[in-house]
Amino acid sequence: MSSLETFRTQTRAWLEANCPASLRGPAAAGELVWGASRIEFANEDQQLWFERMRDRNWFCPAWPEAYGGAGLASEEVAVLEQELRRLRCRPPQINLGIWMLGPVLLEYGTEEQKQRLLTPMTRGEVRWCQGFSEPNAGSDLANIRTSARDEGDHFVVDGSKIWTSYGDKSDWMYALVRTDNSSGKKQEGISLLVLDMHSEGVEARPIDLISGKSSFCEVFFDGVKVPKENLIGPLNGGWTLAKKLLQHERSAMSKFGEFSLPTHFDLMSILREYLPQARTASDHVLEARAQACALDEQAYNLTVQRMGEAARDGQDVSGIASIMKLVHTEQEKTKFEILVDAMGHRALGWDGYEFSAQELAISKAWLMSYTQTIAGGSSEVQLNVIAKRVLQLPDASKGGAK
Ligand SMILES: Cc1cc2nc3c(=O)[nH]c(=O)nc-3n(C[C@H](O)[C@H](O)[C@H](O)COP(=O)(O)OP(=O)(O)OC[C@H]3O[C@@H](n4cnc5c(N)ncnc54)[C@H](O)[C@@H]3O)c2cc1C
Repeated sequence: MSSLETFRTQTRAWLEANCPASLRGPAAAGELVWGASRIEFANEDQQLWFERMRDRNWFCPAWPEAYGGAGLASEEVAVLEQELRRLRCRPPQINLGIWMLGPVLLEYGTEEQKQRLLTPMTRGEVRWCQGFSEPNAGSDLANIRTSARDEGDHFVVDGSKIWTSYGDKSDWMYALVRTDNSSGKKQEGISLLVLDMHSEGVEARPIDLISGKSSFCEVFFDGVKVPKENLIGPLNGGWTLAKKLLQHERSAMSKFGEFSLPTHFDLMSILREYLPQARTASDHVLEARAQACALDEQAYNLTVQRMGEAARDGQDVSGIASIMKLVHTEQEKTKFEILVDAMGHRALGWDGYEFSAQELAISKAWLMSYTQTIAGGSSEVQLNVIAKRVLQLPDASKGGAK
């Protein structure tokens, strides 16, 4: 038996013995565990699964052992992911730091920063939020105004961020700030800082949404002191890091819904439940749309696998990776539109006993599917990125071909 096969056998046996049965399959909304300084578990199984995976260093299996990872080779990480998927194990924790900032720190952080910031991430001890968007800097991210003034051994941050998911619940933020205004080019003069959300002068205000619930915040900075050691990468060189970070965000988002997150619902089986027999012409049309969508989903999953294999062979997959977020989030949106069409009013519940748990979860996931096509860069902006960077088409906004 090759060492990889041995690894698979041992991993499978360990997961079967250690992943509680109740955590295999999609989570209901609000049932996901967020790594944080004050972590909240809804039940004992969640805590067990979190602690067991943490103690195995499998929150970050590919990261070096020196920073709390498991130091696995990429083939082993792929096997671990396949085995987790096979058992439909839920993620033991959700952590934006691990998805986005961690890989950037591994590439650009100083040794001191890696030791200080990565290890607590790999143990799920810190909740991170992302301070990128501002009122006039969403798609046009380089337009940020929040400033960090150099005061010798520290910066002083003033300004505000918007749409900060879970800003009020987070321990730390990674933020883009303007450290130089003198250059005519807005991408220059931006830096990446990490800051403690409990610092004096930070205020996170939840934004009320029509649903009555919200994960979004506006975050205000009023003379916030941030030590110089919290600057990641070069001063004024943050734009390169921001682009890298966004790539990691988009690649994490391209996996949303894959078995473990609340958005995963089996389209064809739900359709059979609500539409056991197609009777009218429109039922047939709906069935055909669902079949096309299920096929697209399968093609997408195979492409993800193919991309993983190509990456392990050392091929450049950055082009496919930028397409993945766009395709996946648009596919998810289509899938929920079909489900809602098939379920009719059963998909329009928000609360209450007259709807099943699955129906309520689908209503929420349907609405959520729209937001995923905006978060991390809207679909239109992804199309621009693909046209420019992957297909190398002329930039229409600069007088290129329309
Ligand atoms: C669920 C969710 C979570 C989020 N979490 C965070 C977070 O934690 N931290 C954070 O910093 N931000 C977060 N955001 C904000 C998100 O990054 C922005 O909403 C997104 O980048 C779009 O920016 P905007 O809202 O300012 O829209 P705008 O940039 O104003 O865009 C409005 C519309 O114009 C289109 N548009 C804009 N420019 C172009 C162009 N050049 N070509 C074609 N079309 C264009 C857009 O596609 C969109 O349809 C989150 C958003 C969502 C939905």
